[in-house]
Amino acid sequence: MPIVDTDVLVIGAGLAGLAAARRLHRLTNPLRDPTGAPSAALAGIGRLSDRLRFAALATRLATIDPDRLLAAPEVSTQTALRRAGLSHRIIEELLRPFLSGVFADRELTTSSHVFAMVVRSFARGRIGVPARGMAALPRALAAPLPADRIRLDTPVERVAPGAVHTAAARIGCRAVLIATDPTTAARLLPDLPAPRMRALTTYYHAAPEAPLREPVLLLDGDRRELVANTVVVSNAAPTYAPPGRHLIATSVAGPAVPEPVVRAELARLYGRPTADWTHLTTVELPQALPAADPPQGHLRKPVALGDRRYVAGDHRDSPSIQGALASGWRAAGAVLRDLRAHHADGE
Ligand SMILES: Cc1cc2nc3c(=O)[nH]c(=O)nc-3n(C[C@H](O)[C@H](O)[C@H](O)COP(=O)(O)OP(=O)(O)OC[C@H]3O[C@@H](n4cnc5c(N)ncnc54)[C@H](O)[C@@H]3O)c2cc1C
Repeated sequence: MPIVDTDVLVIGAGLAGLAAARRLHRLTNPLRDPTGAPSAALAGIGRLSDRLRFAALATRLATIDPDRLLAAPEVSTQTALRRAGLSHRIIEELLRPFLSGVFADRELTTSSHVFAMVVRSFARGRIGVPARGMAALPRALAAPLPADRIRLDTPVERVAPGAVHTAAARIGCRAVLIATDPTTAARLLPDLPAPRMRALTTYYHAAPEAPLREPVLLLDGDRRELVANTVVVSNAAPTYAPPGRHLIATSVAGPAVPEPVVRAELARLYGRPTADWTHLTTVELPQALPAADPPQGHLRKPVALGDRRYVAGDHRDSPSIQGALASGWRAAGAVLRDLRAHHADGE
């Protein structure tokens, strides 16, 4: 799915690619500059319950200057939680299940810098899902771009200096920005190391009755280490559920386990039978998120690789929507700087 913008070709129509294309388009086409921010209607799913004492730590992280957070010694999240004086009980019953769903990392080896910045975002922002589904986010980013500049369903097979190759064509370009998933990026750019990926599996069930009334993320505090979190999504976004039913989304950090096992766990967690629930689907993502173990430093990995090749994606910042958007913005800035410099040199 390349997004073409004049002489810069962006590969990947995910959040990083669209954020980059927006910036490139905005700056290279000022007359068509969109004025609005992404307009996805965010339906809040509410704050985590007050039972979640994690809020105390999050408040602290939310108020510290980010540069200070990133200058702090970098350790694993597990070590950082212990050093913060949190009890074993709170870590095991609250933070491990919560963070294992966020990072797809049960061992909490993820960098304390990533932990600090992601939790900071959680604490300072609102938790929610777009009322019209997650696709509303890329749609909102793509909306100001001319439709004929975006080509979907066109996998790029090879990147060569000044050109990319699809099955059907060679597309020439002065610069190429690769905003695919990290595994594909490493295949297209052999000098880019492929990060280790972490797996997440999500189970979707429809229920005649909502097992909870509130739009809260339910964590498994019983240390069973199977379900990371579960939420009655339709309590926040009713349109997500099949008509007349309620939608429950349940995350497992790691590969899939048999659905009946998960359903039995859900009966225990919600404290009510789940036999009349319908299993809608299981979404297995063996490559859901890039691992972000130390050292991550200041989180901003290089995006300019030389030979007018650029890279963006959550693997260049933090493994999150925020990281993907920030990396796309940063990579587009690098492209513009280089193109302007070459232009000034009379190229
Ligand atoms: C289950 C799950 C839940 C998550 N929940 C959250 C959350 O609550 N909050 C949060 O902040 N983050 C969350 N994340 C993480 C977040 O979704 C990702 O970090 C982010 O979407 C990554 O965006 P990206 O643009 O870097 O990559 P991607 O979204 O992977 O986009 C890459 C794009 O490149 C395209 N592509 C791949 N190969 C090619 C090719 N050869 N040619 C052309 N195009 C190609 C793909 O089709 C895709 O469109 C979650 C992730 C998962 C899996």
